[in-house]
Amino acid sequence: MFESLTQRLSGTIERLRGRGRLSEDNIRESLREVRIALLEADVALPVVQALIERIKVRAVGQEVLKSLTPGQALIKVVRDELTTVMGAQTSELNLNVPSPAVILMAGLQGAGKTTTVGKLAKHLKERRKKKVMVVSADVYRPAAIEQLQTLAKQVDVIFFPSDLTQEPEAIVRAAIADARKSFVDVLIVDTAGRTSIDEAMMAEIKALHGAVDPVETLFVVDSMTGQDAAVTAKHFSDALPLTGVVLTKTDGDARGGAALSVRYITGRPIKFIGVSEKPDGLDVFHPDRIASRILD
Ligand code: GDP
Repeated sequence: MFESLTQRLSGTIERLRGRGRLSEDNIRESLREVRIALLEADVALPVVQALIERIKVRAVGQEVLKSLTPGQALIKVVRDELTTVMGAQTSELNLNVPSPAVILMAGLQGAGKTTTVGKLAKHLKERRKKKVMVVSADVYRPAAIEQLQTLAKQVDVIFFPSDLTQEPEAIVRAAIADARKSFVDVLIVDTAGRTSIDEAMMAEIKALHGAVDPVETLFVVDSMTGQDAAVTAKHFSDALPLTGVVLTKTDGDARGGAALSVRYITGRPIKFIGVSEKPDGLDVFHPDRIASRILD
């Protein structure tokens, strides 16, 4: 069973009682517990180290309010720091550009990109009343194009056909021209992912990004991949000007650490989370809930 940080700290908190001020010495043991709790929540190691440093700077020297025990004061510092990193507000998609607004999806193979394209198309159509077109620029896997076609039919949005003989940039240019003629509001572009970071894939998606100038570039990442999620996030965020993140498969991950890692590394808001395999399995992400998930 996952032990919350508050439970974890109960022992070291007792020992902090009766001190009026948090100092590096008296919080050392408690910070060790915070570190273990973050690692157990699957936050990536470099991010844990950076967070502990920030928490320490914020905590040391702080007066303990009369209404709080020193332990509670430290937990408040941790909560405030996690909230600062995650942001407090939900973040919608930016569609404030001349139509069609292009959304480019980036991420490793298996992360859930194609599934998320279907979910986003449904979300935009039903909740924001947009006319949506989807296109696949994955010219390596015919199954990926077929999968997108099936999803488009299922959620009833326009599918722009593509095939393996075409260049990704040419496909997307043709889709944009067609979307413009058909008064499409939003064009979602699915892209090829590899199973691991690969220079050719990065070069291709960078070129595609340059050619189509999307208003949203969403990094799709599997929340179950733990420490790897952080490494992948770093590569994609260095290569592309990401505007947001979709964290998938959160239905299989109760720990919430990947959200912290990916947010910290990319500096970009997590806009949505995947909560099932189904087309309606997409929720708006509430960053303020992450601190509670780890602490309470
Ligand atoms: P892609 O290679 O990045 O396009 O990944 P896919 O969209 O094909 O997804 C890979 C697998 O993850 C599929 O079996 C999806 O059904 C599954 N998947 C995607 N998102 C979610 C999610 O939020 N929850 C669950 N449980 N499964 C998901």
